[in-house]
Amino acid sequence: MILKVIPVGPLSMNCSVIIDEDTGQSVVIDPGADLDAILKALEGTTPKYILATHGHIDHVGQVKGLKERLGVPFLVHKEDLFLLNDPIWKGFDLYVGADLPCPEPDDFLEEGMELSFGKIRLKVLHTPGHTPGHCCFYSEENLLIAGDLLFRGSVGRWDLPGGNLEDLKKSLRRVVLELPEDVRVITGHGEETTIGREKRFNPLLREILSR
Ligand SMILES: [Zn+2]
Ligand SMILES: [Zn+2]
Repeated sequence: MILKVIPVGPLSMNCSVIIDEDTGQSVVIDPGADLDAILKALEGTTPKYILATHGHIDHVGQVKGLKERLGVPFLVHKEDLFLLNDPIWKGFDLYVGADLPCPEPDDFLEEGMELSFGKIRLKVLHTPGHTPGHCCFYSEENLLIAGDLLFRGSVGRWDLPGGNLEDLKKSLRRVVLELPEDVRVITGHGEETTIGREKRFNPLLREILSR
């Protein structure tokens, strides 16, 4: 497995490209901005899916351009449909470099679904709280694409439209308690981390787990 993490746009949103070395098949997760950088990371591969952890426009802002170029299916959870073209704040789309409208999804992500390309299997974990349809992608090759659920030293916001603190706590508890400590976590913004590191050093997560 080859993983390329590309920080895009002014919010340093982490777009991930995962490539199966043997077949050259790839997926792109959260293409929020900087279309050219994402296309460059995909060069020489055969893209299979465009995936989004959730519907916020800083995560889906370049689905349109990518779909036009790649012609592969775009998947997001049904419960985040209402967010795909909602800038939340006036002008936020221009600020983050989003090219709206975001296309309609070709299929919906669901809890327990497995996306496979080459030998790689990504399991979909429905992890609501930041948004109602938020999902993480987990590979048993020790990788979690966490979106805006968990950050290094922090957790996702729950105060935006559709956010819910109780759901966020449940999703965090689930992910942190179910997955091995050495799992590498690619966060939606900023530095990567591991499950074990956040269990020990993330004050918000510790508070949530201690209840
Ligand atoms: Zn978000
Ligand atoms: Zn985000």
